[in-house]
Amino acid sequence: MATLRMRLRTIGRRLARAYGAPPEPRRLPPLDELVLTILSQNTNDTNRDRAYADLRRAMPTWDDVADAPVGAIAKAIRKGGLAPTKSPRIKAVLRDLRIRGIALNERALTALPDEELWELLIGLTGVGPKTAACVLLFSLDRPFFPVDTHVHRVAIRLGLVAPKANAVVAQRELQAALRPDEMYALHMNLIRHGRHVCVAQRPLCSQCVLSDLCPRVGVKEAR
Ligand code: SF4
Repeated sequence: MATLRMRLRTIGRRLARAYGAPPEPRRLPPLDELVLTILSQNTNDTNRDRAYADLRRAMPTWDDVADAPVGAIAKAIRKGGLAPTKSPRIKAVLRDLRIRGIALNERALTALPDEELWELLIGLTGVGPKTAACVLLFSLDRPFFPVDTHVHRVAIRLGLVAPKANAVVAQRELQAALRPDEMYALHMNLIRHGRHVCVAQRPLCSQCVLSDLCPRVGVKEAR
């Protein structure tokens, strides 16, 4: 664990030097972040943001969305892709929260302690660990480390987690080794690294600032 912690610190420093500080977290209210994260599945940030803006314009409150026909939600979010999948998911999540007595407003979920909120979120149909961790970290600045496809791939290639570790295991292990104040910047910079250098097909190892730390290239002393 001590070694993993040190390696993560070194990687965080290198990536921060390479990419700079990431933009400030968006700090949306938790329900906004939850819906935005569902909309982000299998699309890019631009289309996600278009779908989110269209949804908010068409249905200004989350109660409006919970009460709307699925087809109307799908129509509003169509620019984000996978609308037939995402629209029932969004509606179900909001209704599920309301059934549990949670008012669908800006304060929703903000008063719950970390673990209680984590359990609540991952207990919602269609909400996985990555989405739950995004809400906790981005919206509420709680110490959770979302592992998306880029973070997962880079962490495996760097040998930070076992090759067969799934995203849930990777999140648990990386989260336990990181200080809360390291999580946001490392998450964001690993995504940048995964999108631009450590890409899924043919990673650009010759341009990688982590190449001397990477088992795929050859491990040297961490600096
Ligand atoms: S050296 Fe290559 S495989 Fe390793 S982290 Fe960098 S880009 Fe990814």
